Parts: sequence; structure tokens; C-alpha cells
Amino acid sequence: MTIPFADRHIGLNADDVTTMLKTVGYDSLEALMGEAVPSAIRTTALDLPAAASEQEAAAELRALAADNRPAEPMIGLGYHGTITPAVIRRNVLEDPSWYTAYTPYQPEISQGRLEALINFQTVVADLSGLPTANASLLDEGTAAAEAMTLVRRANRKASGPFVVDADSLPQTIAVVRTRAEAMGIEVVVADLTDGLPDGELSGLLVSYPGASGRIVDPRPLVDAAHGRDALVVVASDLLALTLLEAPGELGADVVIGSSQRFGVPLFYGGPHAGFMAVAAGLERHLPGRLVGVSVDVEGRPAYRLALQTREQHIRRDKATSNICTAQVLLAVVASMYAVYHGPDGLAAIATEVNEKARGLAASLSAGGVEVVHEQFFDTVLTRVPGRAADVVAAAREGGAHLRLVDDDHVGISVGESATPASLEAVLEAFGVSRLEDEPAASLPADLRRATPYLTHAVFSTHRTETRMLRYLRRLSDRDYALDLGMIPLGSCTMKLNATTEMEPISLPGFADLHPFAPAEDAGGYRRLVADLEGWLAEVTGYDKVSIQPNAGSQGELAGLLAIRGFHRANGDEGRTVCLIPSSAHGTNAASAVMAGMKVVVVKATENGSVDLDDLRAQCEAHHDDLAAIMVTYPSTHGVYEDTIKDLCAIVHDHGGQVYVDGANLNALLGYARPGEFGGDVSHLNLHKTFCIPHGGGGPGVGPIGVRAHLAPYLPSHPMHPEPEKREGIGPISAAPYGSTGILPISWAYVRMMGPDGLTRATASAVLAANYVAKRLGEHFPVLYRGEDGLVAHECILDVRAITKETGVTVDDVAKRLIDYGFHAPTMSFPVAGTLMVEPTESEDLGEIDRFCDAMIAIKGEIDRVAAGEWTAEDSPLRNAPHTTRAIVDKWERPYDREIGAFPAGLDPDKYWPPVARIDQAYGDRNLVCSCPPPEAFAEATDG
Ligand SMILES: *Cc1c(COP(=O)(O)O)cnc(C)c1O
Repeated sequence: MTIPFADRHIGLNADDVTTMLKTVGYDSLEALMGEAVPSAIRTTALDLPAAASEQEAAAELRALAADNRPAEPMIGLGYHGTITPAVIRRNVLEDPSWYTAYTPYQPEISQGRLEALINFQTVVADLSGLPTANASLLDEGTAAAEAMTLVRRANRKASGPFVVDADSLPQTIAVVRTRAEAMGIEVVVADLTDGLPDGELSGLLVSYPGASGRIVDPRPLVDAAHGRDALVVVASDLLALTLLEAPGELGADVVIGSSQRFGVPLFYGGPHAGFMAVAAGLERHLPGRLVGVSVDVEGRPAYRLALQTREQHIRRDKATSNICTAQVLLAVVASMYAVYHGPDGLAAIATEVNEKARGLAASLSAGGVEVVHEQFFDTVLTRVPGRAADVVAAAREGGAHLRLVDDDHVGISVGESATPASLEAVLEAFGVSRLEDEPAASLPADLRRATPYLTHAVFSTHRTETRMLRYLRRLSDRDYALDLGMIPLGSCTMKLNATTEMEPISLPGFADLHPFAPAEDAGGYRRLVADLEGWLAEVTGYDKVSIQPNAGSQGELAGLLAIRGFHRANGDEGRTVCLIPSSAHGTNAASAVMAGMKVVVVKATENGSVDLDDLRAQCEAHHDDLAAIMVTYPSTHGVYEDTIKDLCAIVHDHGGQVYVDGANLNALLGYARPGEFGGDVSHLNLHKTFCIPHGGGGPGVGPIGVRAHLAPYLPSHPMHPEPEKREGIGPISAAPYGSTGILPISWAYVRMMGPDGLTRATASAVLAANYVAKRLGEHFPVLYRGEDGLVAHECILDVRAITKETGVTVDDVAKRLIDYGFHAPTMSFPVAGTLMVEPTESEDLGEIDRFCDAMIAIKGEIDRVAAGEWTAEDSPLRNAPHTTRAIVDKWERPYDREIGAFPAGLDPDKYWPPVARIDQAYGDRNLVCSCPPPEAFAEATDG
């Protein structure tokens, strides 16, 4: 008999549950949950299909994938056929050592993915010709929108509209418009063929090459814009830039785009890593994450996140953007594609793409078809008066998806994957035969690439599969991911990402479909999205769900825009105040600003819950201009607040809408529904509760659920496959369904858990957190508990008194956990000087106890510092993590080597951090964000 999936997903077996309940002091899971979850919000059972087995779910997903019909993707528009090298597909995209890692906030245990990301930054910086690139953004459309706000922030002397090249990707223009509208920025979309429109401008976005395929020399536009004090953003294509001169060399201040065609599957729109590079002087305005080089205490160069580490959490409404989770896994894939092919390999791919496109153009011209532009890289625009739809239909019959521009024009984009047969099919669709002659050049002679790129050794040393395999293994071995042990990060819900959930994303039916393929070729995806949106509506108690936002932060923005749309439709333009509790996740405040709202902070009470008196006072003060409250439930303090219904009622009474941040849904599923207890809108994080892996910092999916009155204001998309979703508030993401390619993961989770499994997962997660709180509470005070003394799915351990007394900090505890073989809990969020632990339902009691034992042992070490046996400065805590080098070096520490490196006993499987404690400040003072020369490492090893 097959074991139900829920028994594989949930780490606790019946004996574990009994033991843990005893420790916590309850007779049954139901008794525990009955006490923990306020009765006022308890809900009825989930109405979902009964659990399918792993085999059944896999078969259903294969059937859905088979209902999609990918063809040779020649639609272009920022999404191109590419070949994911199998060694990278299997050993990055499909490898848990990469996909189960967390965002590299603990750099000592993240050196592998940080190196991969600095490679990504180097690729982007080199190809764009600008010194500093980030890693990474959510997609090309949002990268353009971020660039718009960046140039305005960085260049306050400029005023006037943000001018956008009409030959930009239509979805980019639409995403920019959505963002601009909310922030009150005027956007002018202009045909730039004859230069800039008259008048002032605050910034310019030029596409090079354009969406039509045309290549125009951007220099005159750049010079004209600079002459009017505006900064220039160039949207570009990394593969084209291997043959075309770098925009940075042509004067661009910012370069943005997508790295999808560097080996990342189309995934029907995402996830793909967007990128941004900036000129010198703009690096401190960069949104998203930036990897930089610093040094560790042993003098080695070491990577870590620079400047923006947890930027939203510190700068909140002053943050450069709301981006938290981005697209790390996909950025790693793209960077490895560049490492595997090297500069010459990439140029060869680009040359072949260009040759194929030129071949098509020549054959079409010779056959009497008008080719509109002479200068192009990969995209041929044809004019076929009145025949466009017929040509596109014929090509589809022949196995190629072309772009139907309008009744008279067809676009053909050639990707790396284009085969002779698909090129043949395209010509046939036009009724033209292939020309054998050598086609004319199509790249402008004065824009041929002269600036070298990817000259760093990493781009020439891993060019065979053996070397690549070993490089990938070497990097992933440096990192601590869920495949090594528990990652007890509060608020991040690092649970199992089951193999049966992961496998389908590689099925060609899911992986190879272009986002703008005809709707009838995406039947499987449409059913999958409809199922998932329906299931998410059921579990949250909302009426409608939009899957489009591709991160939690983007869900927040979408939800706030829905609220904004609702108020405006009611003539309440003045409702712009957004109340945010002091404990909120940093993205909340940043998103509110992006939605054009003003942030007003609501106080917390002594016990951590929202101060209802202060809330009432704020609501009264803002009775006329209150737009919304953003409140996390259970609170970011990990507690089920009894007052949530009152809170919602107070805000509603003052005309405000309630945004429930649903990132903590793992504590609610099956027990409470935000749409029932007072929320008007919530985002969920499918990369937390619904098993999409964190990927080292992304991908993510942040769908929103809304009550019916907000449904008209859900994200739309000009090219949406469902025609009724084409008009509306505009897109939040570049693709109609956002990160569509990873939705099978969450679909499979719900399908295999069923209503009972999901509910049991919630109870198990709450039990695990309460068990940890019970075991650790006497060693580290648990900061907040509910009325009943219980926590929800996570608990905050207070280290502040310890720090005051002994000098041992949360950092020391976090780094010491590495020596014990653990990833640290969340540090200093939502309260500075604390650790927030979320065990999740997937850990077994053995692992949870191993963690508790480690924490208790660490407390024992702290006691030795308190007793004066060690100083804090020369304790195993401050010297953590201990590297192999530390223990073979001369040993002059006041404790034994064994205590330093093997505090949990001699363990042959011990995880060794590749670097010692990293100096964060050094790296920010000496900002280096591209691959350091190999000598930097050589010196460190010698010295
Ligand atoms: C993770 C999280 C977010 C942000 O989600 P991202 O996908 O990282 O943008 C927002 N709120 C809370 C409470 C979270 O835990």
C-alpha cells in the first residue's frame, strides 16, 4: 500500500507527536490548536479534493503538461528559445543543494551561491559596459520600472515625464505605466526615430535592440537626454550584446533586461532573472541585492551581500525598492550558462542566431516578402498586408510560434533552439523557399562590439562537462541548504520541497512554452492556474485570486493597488494613508510607498500585539484619508492575536481596507481564513507555505486573494490569454501569470496533501514551534506568547539581556550554530537582538531536538563567558564559525580545538564553513562587486 504523501511531508510521526504534546502539556493536536487559535477566527474544514498519491499527482501533472503545446518559440518580446545545458539543468535547477538554499544573509555558509551570483553580476556588468550590476531583479518589466524610479531618485534636478521608447517590449511599457501611475509619475511613450520629444524629461528608456528587432544607434538620444539633465536607461539583450557595442560605452547610465535566454527555460513567462547595471555613482541607489567582496577574520577574500543587506528592514519606507525575494536560482543558471560557454561560446551562439535570422530575411526578401528593418540582431519584422494572421497560423501548423504584430505585420525571432526544420517551416508559412546565397550583414558596422567581456578566468576554466560538474559541486558543497539540515528561519518557512513537486517543472510541456503563445496551446497551464487559484481562494476565504505577482513584495503592491483602485472608483482619491504596525515586515512599508501611499506607524503593546488604542487614535486622526492597514497574521511576533477581528472592524469603521499579509499562512491553513476574519486582501507566499523552494533567494510566487469588491482591481495584462483580464489596473509582472513555470510545485502540494494533510501540517508546525519554545524558554526567554502562553508557528528567543550581561551577541549565537551544524534562525527581525525560530512541520523530532540541544549547549558556553572563564572576544562564540584552517593553525585560544570545531562531538559528516567570520563593514567601505582576480585568493592562501 502506498504511504500517503502527508506522512512523507510531515516530519513528525505519531510517537513524536505524543512526546511533544506531553512536553507542551496537551493531550491531542486538536486540544493544542483549540487553545492556540482564537475561537473567534476558527473556520470550517477545507473543501478541497481528497489527497492524491505521489504517483497519481505526477500522472495528472504529466497530463496537464501534455495539454500544453510548445512550438519553436519565435515570438520574441523578451522571451527566447534557449538550450539549458543538461549539466546545469540537472545539477542546478533540479539539484536540492541549490534550490533548497536560503537567501545568503549568513554569508559564511553561502559562499557557493554568492560566487555564482558575483559571476552573474560580472556577466551583466561586462556585457552592459557598466561597472556595477545587481543580482537580480524579478523580470525585465519590473527592472524597467525600478530603473524609472532609480533615475528619478538619483537625479533630483531633472523634472518632467519619464520618456519611453515606443519600440520597447509592450509588457515593459505596461508594467512601467502601472508603477508610474501609482507614484504619480508621468510617462510619455514616444517614437524616437526622429529624436526626443520636445520639453523636459526626468529620464529616458531606450530599447537596444527594439521590440520590433530594429537596432538604432542610441548615442544621439543619450546625448540629447544628457543635454537636458536626464539619465538614460537602456533596455537590452545579453546575447545581442556579445556582438553589439555595450550600452555603457554608448553613454547609458542604467542598463536593464532579462537573462532568460542564458539557458533559462521559457516557463510560460517565468521565473527568469531580470538584471540591472548602473554607472559609477549610482550603485547606492541600486534596488535588490548586490553581492560584494569583503574579507574574513583570517584574511581571506569572502563574498557577502553588500550595502542593501535586508535593506527594507532597516530603511522601510525609505528603501530603494520593495524587492526581497528575487530570482537567485535563475540568476545562477544564467551565470553558469555564461561560465560553461565562455565569451567565445556566447559569441558563437549569438553569431549563429544572427546568421539564421539573416538567412530568413534574405529568403523572405528574395521571395517577395517585405522585410521592414535592415538592421537587426535576431528578430525579423515582415510586412504581409492582410495576411499576417494566416502566416502565423500556417507557421503554428508547421511547429513555430510567430508574433502576430497586427493584421499586416509578423515578427520572427530566432533563438538558440531554432532548428533547420523550424526555419524551413517559417519560410513555408510565408510561401517562400530558402535562398542559398550568403545573406547581407544586419548588424550596424559602427555598433559592432569592440569592448572585451568575460575576460575573467572563471569564464574560460569550466568549459568541459567534467570541469563544470566539479565546479558546481565545489560551489554547492560550500553552502548549507535544507539537504544538509534544518533551516529554522522564522517568517521564511523553510519546509520540504518534495521531489514529486519539483519534477514536473522540467517537463517540456511546462518548461518550453512561450508566454505569448496562443491560448489554445496553453490549455494545461490554464487548467492548472484555474485549479490553483480556486484552491487558494478556498483556503484563504477570498472570492478571487490572482497568481500574477512573482514575489510576496509584488503581491503586496498588487493588493495595495487594488485597494487604491477601489477607493478611487468610489471617488475617495484622498484615501492615501497606510497604517503599518511597527513590527511589520520591511517590504510592507516599501510597497505602500510604491502604491503612492503615506506610511503611518501603529505602535505595539508591551506584549507585542498591535496597540488598539493607538490604532483607534490613528484611525480617528485619519478618518478622512485612511486607505488601509497592513497587518500580518499571525503577527510577525509569531503570536495569534485575539484582537484581529476588532482590529479589522476599527479600520473598516473608518473607511479603510484591511490588508492581511499572509506570508505566515502556514499557521492558519485549515484553521482560519483571512478573508473570513476581516481581511479584504492578502498575499500568500507560495515559496513559503506552498513548497516552492527558496532557491537561494528566489524564485517566488506572491498571489493575492481579494474579496469580491476588490476583484475588478486585480492585476491585468495587455496580452493576457484570458481576454477579460486584458484591461484593468495594469500588470504587476511582465508575464500574465508571473512565474508560471513553478506553479506545478504548489499545485502538487495541495493535490497530494488534501484538506486533512494541509490541516495536519498546520497543527504539526504549531506543535513544533511550541515544543521549541518550551525546551528553549528556560535558556533564552521567549519574547512573546499569546494569552494562553502559546506561540503560533514560530517563536522569538530574546538574546538582549544576555548581550547586555556578557557581550555575546545574536550574531555570535548565529555563527556558533554553524559549528553545531545548523543554519541560524532569523536574526534581529522583527526585534533587534533576537532570534526567530520556525521549525515547520517537515522536521522530525530528532532534528528538532538536535537543534534544541545545540542552542542549550550554546547557552552553556555563554554561561562560561558570564562566569569569567572566557572573555566574549576570545570565546568559541565570537570566534565562530571555526574553519579547518583555524584548527590546523597555531592554536592559542583558551579552549580546545575540539570545543571550537566539534562542539557537538566528533562528527565525520560535519559541515565545514569555507571562510571564517566575515567583516561586513570592510566590504561596504571597499565596494567590489565583480569577480575578484584569482591572485586575490592566491595571496590569501599563501599568507
Ligand atoms: C517573506 C515575507 C514577505 C515578503 O515576501 P517576498 O517574497 O520575500 O517578497 C512579506 N511579509 C512577510 C511577513 C514575510 O515573511
